[in-house]
Amino acid sequence: MRIAPGFAAALDKFALSTLENEHGAVYALDSELRLCYFNPAWYRFAQDNHGEPGISERFPLGTPLLHAISGPLQPYYHDAYVQVLRERMVWQHDYECSSGNVYRRFHQKSYPLANGEAVIIFNSLTITRPHEADAAATQPPDETRYRDSHGLIVQCSHCRRVQRAAQPEHWDWVPAWVDRLPPRVSHSLCQPCYDYYYRFRPGRPPA
Ligand SMILES: [Zn+2]
Repeated sequence: MRIAPGFAAALDKFALSTLENEHGAVYALDSELRLCYFNPAWYRFAQDNHGEPGISERFPLGTPLLHAISGPLQPYYHDAYVQVLRERMVWQHDYECSSGNVYRRFHQKSYPLANGEAVIIFNSLTITRPHEADAAATQPPDETRYRDSHGLIVQCSHCRRVQRAAQPEHWDWVPAWVDRLPPRVSHSLCQPCYDYYYRFRPGRPPA
């Protein structure tokens, strides 16, 4: 099931067909920030990225958003969607979701319904290009270089680079671990991603 009971009836700012026919992935959160809708393109995207069938089993309708977002991004998305609902404002955000050999950037636009019963979230691919430009910086999946003293590999939730254990200010592109996460990964944000996308985002003073 991908449409929660009552979702279609609550739609006061979109026709359901508009969401259904959208090429990009669309999902919605109810007023408690639980997943209440996925459009067909959402499943295609998940499938193309080896997310299916796991994703829809792990995050069925009714799943709280925060269970579907990894570590450090949780408060940002939570705050943003709460603000969208409370202030009835449209919120826009760019994020990366690359695979091992393709760089992809997405634009996300989140619209509140007038009745405040849901946020409708559109995701569209804006940039896609091979990682070849960064080939010089590509690193092999060397466990000794990237496992830290806690036995963890730290990956940036946004750009998916991994942090060097001995030089934590260095974050490297390790394509093998983008396509297939190694065991015991911890998610964090590298400094440029934190600053550019989250720390100085509109409407929020830097923490
Ligand atoms: Zn990053």
